[in-house]
Amino acid sequence: MSILERETPRGALAEKTVEHWVGGASYAGESTRTGPVYNPATGVVAREVRLATSADVDAAVQTAKAAFPGWADTSWAKRQQVMFAFRELLNARKDEVAAILTAEHGKVTSDALGEVARGLEVVEFACAMSSHAKGEFSENVSTGVDVYSLRQPVGVVGIISPFNFPAMVPLWFFPIAIAAGNTVVLKPSEKDPSAANWLAQLMKEAGLPDGVLNVVHGDKEAVDALLTHPDVASISFVGSTPIARYIYETASKNGKRVQALGGAKNHMLVLPDADLDLTADAAVNAGFGSAGERCMAISVVVAVEPVADELIAKISERMSGLTVGDGTRGCDMGPLITKEHRDKVAGYLDVAQQDGATVVVDGRGVHADGAADGFWLGPTLIDKVSTSSKVYQDEIFGPVLSIVRVSSYDEGLELINASRYGNGTAIFTNDGGAAKRFQREVQVGMIGINVPIPVPVGHFSFGGWKDSFFGSAKAYGPEAVNFFTREKAITSRWLDPSHGGINLGFPQHE
Ligand code: NAD
Repeated sequence: MSILERETPRGALAEKTVEHWVGGASYAGESTRTGPVYNPATGVVAREVRLATSADVDAAVQTAKAAFPGWADTSWAKRQQVMFAFRELLNARKDEVAAILTAEHGKVTSDALGEVARGLEVVEFACAMSSHAKGEFSENVSTGVDVYSLRQPVGVVGIISPFNFPAMVPLWFFPIAIAAGNTVVLKPSEKDPSAANWLAQLMKEAGLPDGVLNVVHGDKEAVDALLTHPDVASISFVGSTPIARYIYETASKNGKRVQALGGAKNHMLVLPDADLDLTADAAVNAGFGSAGERCMAISVVVAVEPVADELIAKISERMSGLTVGDGTRGCDMGPLITKEHRDKVAGYLDVAQQDGATVVVDGRGVHADGAADGFWLGPTLIDKVSTSSKVYQDEIFGPVLSIVRVSSYDEGLELINASRYGNGTAIFTNDGGAAKRFQREVQVGMIGINVPIPVPVGHFSFGGWKDSFFGSAKAYGPEAVNFFTREKAITSRWLDPSHGGINLGFPQHE
C-alpha cells in the first residue's frame, strides 16, 4: 500500500472539506465560503478548504487569548517537554506529512522529506528555549544594586504562510513562539492547507494544551481580520513581496510586531576559475528543485565570460536527464501549484523570445509521468536574458533558469546589487579572495560560497534584504527568540539604613 493510500491516524487526506482547527478540535465556523484544493499532478480538485470570515478568525483569537495565561505560566521545563515529544513524533511520522505535501503541493517525496527535515531543525532549537531566552544578571552595578533581565511571551501571535513550504514555513515560527509561552493562530496557504492541520493535531498528541495552537484557513478576509485584531500581538508573514509590504504596513499601523518575508530573485555568480561541472550540478539542483517554487531557488546564473558557452552546455546536458512527473513516482521534479501559475510561468518564454533572448531548453513540451491534466512545465533554460526584460526583473517562481553574461566580477556584482530583491545569492569560485570580497560587497541577506541554496541552519536566523524582507527580526534562530518575547530589565537592592535620606536628583550609580 502506498503512503498516499494509507489511512493516516489523523486522516488528513480523507477529509472532503479542510476545516479550521480551534481549541484542539475541528471547527467549521460560520463561513459557507470554500476554495478548491487541487492535486497538481492530476489537475483534479481533491477537496475543499473552508475560508474563514472575520468572526471565525475572532473565535480562534479568543480561544488563543483564553489559553495564553495558563500556557505562559507553564514552566519552561514542561513547555520544552511538549517540544521534545513533538520532535519525536514528527521525526517518526514524517512520511505521513510528506505524503500530504506531495498530494497538495506536488513536490516530489524526497523534496517533501527535505522540507520536514529543515523544519525539524527549528523544533530542535525550540527544545532548548529556556537556554535561548534566558536573561542576564549584573551584580553590584551600583553599590548594593543588581540589574537583571528576563524574557516573557508577547501574547497571541499570528502566522501567515505561503503555498510553497506548507510544513516548513509554519515550523519556522510556531515551535519557537509556543516554546516561549505564546499562543498561536496560524493561517496557512489556502492552496495546500492540510499539512497545517496535521501539524496542529500532532502538537496535541505531543501534549500541547487545547487552544495554544489554532489553525484558521482562508484568504484576504481572514488575513485582514488577523492584521487588525486588537488581541493579536504580532504577525509573522512569508509570501510574495507585494503582500509582504501590505502585511508590514497594515499590521504595523495596528500596533503589532511584524516580520514579513517577501519574494526573491536569486543570482548565482560564476567566476571563470570555478569548477564548471560542480557549478552546473549546483545550478540545476537549485534552479529546478521543487519546480523552482522556492524562495531560495537560483533563478539567474550570472556567468563571467569566457565561461558562459561551456557552462550552458553542461547545464543543458544535465537538464536532458531530468524526469518530470507525479511526485510519488520517483521523478526529479513535480508539477506547478495551479494551472494559472503554470500558464503564467510558461508565458515568460514568449516574453523571452520577444525580448531577444534565446530559449535553449523549452519546458512547454515536457512529457510528464503523470495525468494529462497535471500542471506540468518542464525545466527551461534561457540564455542572453536582458536585465531590462521582465524575464529578468520579475520573480517567475517556476522551473525557469536565466543566463546573464557579464565580462567581470565587478559587472556581476553591480548587477546583483541593482536587483530590488536581496534574499539569497551564491558565488562559485575557487578564489578565496574573490569570495571574501563578495560576502562583504553584495547587498543580499543570505550568501552561499560554492553553496547554491544557502538557507541558514536552525540556530542562525533566516531573512533577506531590500524588497525580500520587511521588519527587523528575521525568522527562526536568535532573532526569533527576541521577536516572540519581550524583555524586562529589573533593578534591585535590599534596603539598609545607609539608603535613607531625601535626594530629588536623577539616580546615579555609585
Ligand atoms: P502569496 O503572497 O500569494 O500568499 C502568501 C499568504 O498570503 C497566503 O497565506 C495567502 O492566503 C495570503 N494572501 C494572498 N493574497 C493576499 C492578499 N491580497 N491579502 C492578504 N493576504 C493574502 O504567496 P504564495 O504564492 O503563497 O507563495 C509564494 C511567494 O512566497 C513567493 O513570492 C516566494 O518567494 C515567497 N516566499 C518567500 C520566502 C522567504 O523566506 N522570503 C519563503 C517562501 C516563500
